[in-house]
Amino acid sequence: MPWREEVSAYRTVVSELMCQQTQIATVIPYFERWTAKWPDFPDLARAEEAEVMALWAGLGYYSRARNLLALARQVAALPRPPRTAAEWREFKGVGPYTAAAIASIAFDEPVAVVDGNVVRVLARLDGVRAKLRDASSAAKLFTGRADELVDPKQPGDFNQAMMELGATVCRKGVPDCGRCPLAEWCDAKAQGDAATLPRFVSKERKEAAVDRALVIRAGKILLRRNPPAAKRLAGMAEIAVVSSLGLAADGEPALVRRRTIGTVTYEEKLYAFEPKAADVRRWAQDAELEWVDASELDGAALSGPHRRWLGEWLSRDGRKARGRLP
Ligand code: SF4
Repeated sequence: MPWREEVSAYRTVVSELMCQQTQIATVIPYFERWTAKWPDFPDLARAEEAEVMALWAGLGYYSRARNLLALARQVAALPRPPRTAAEWREFKGVGPYTAAAIASIAFDEPVAVVDGNVVRVLARLDGVRAKLRDASSAAKLFTGRADELVDPKQPGDFNQAMMELGATVCRKGVPDCGRCPLAEWCDAKAQGDAATLPRFVSKERKEAAVDRALVIRAGKILLRRNPPAAKRLAGMAEIAVVSSLGLAADGEPALVRRRTIGTVTYEEKLYAFEPKAADVRRWAQDAELEWVDASELDGAALSGPHRRWLGEWLSRDGRKARGRLP
């Protein structure tokens, strides 16, 4: 991983924020583009929010990008970056896990990092069979035990080794106990129930439906840009919800896609509309709506699924739509 080949406080912070909620394989190309453009805190501190959001587009959980920019501006104003986990926790978007990772990896502070992988290893090692409420209460529960185990001489290496053990050997589902360096001390291996640990209280799952409008006019796509203070996807562009355009969904959708965010599964129906002149005039009064050239979608700060859906629609129906519309 590129952030392990060359370690610095900045690279550790960027990698840790990018890796929250996102798989490492997805993060690597983003990390490389990001650190090539902004190699250290002062470079990032000078960046515009719009370019930061555009480079983050597709990684999801966009508040991380805004927090990273705000953090860089604060750190760049200090005489030196903070060193301890307690200091790093003062920054918005830096929780106990991220603070411990930065302090142990970049500054050798002997604090344990407890992520889902470490929780799984420790729950199995110690045979913890009680039901855990959720990931964050599980992390709290195992922090004391992880702090006992952390190697004070090489805390960063120890933490990364524990996380990697959980990701590659003590995996979800069936663990590979034959390759595990902890096998001789492991309670779950001895009891034969490792695959069932850790146990979590099951969460209520919900379903929701969303109708969105695919609108193209003279080669430009209509998108809604969320205001900077929006609760979700602030500053990001998205395919507008049909009702927010004063339209009504009718007939067959051009695309139907399902996705799950947290405990909610959304059925997203995407309807293609031919805009009337009166629609276009009305939308011009809505400051959140903008027309983006279809050839420039790559540079728009658009969430990953919306970018993918537009790409699918344009490659399938776009030529037809362009030919038919003004
Ligand atoms: Fe996980 Fe098996 Fe190792 Fe125990 S012995 S920590 S269950 S991989």
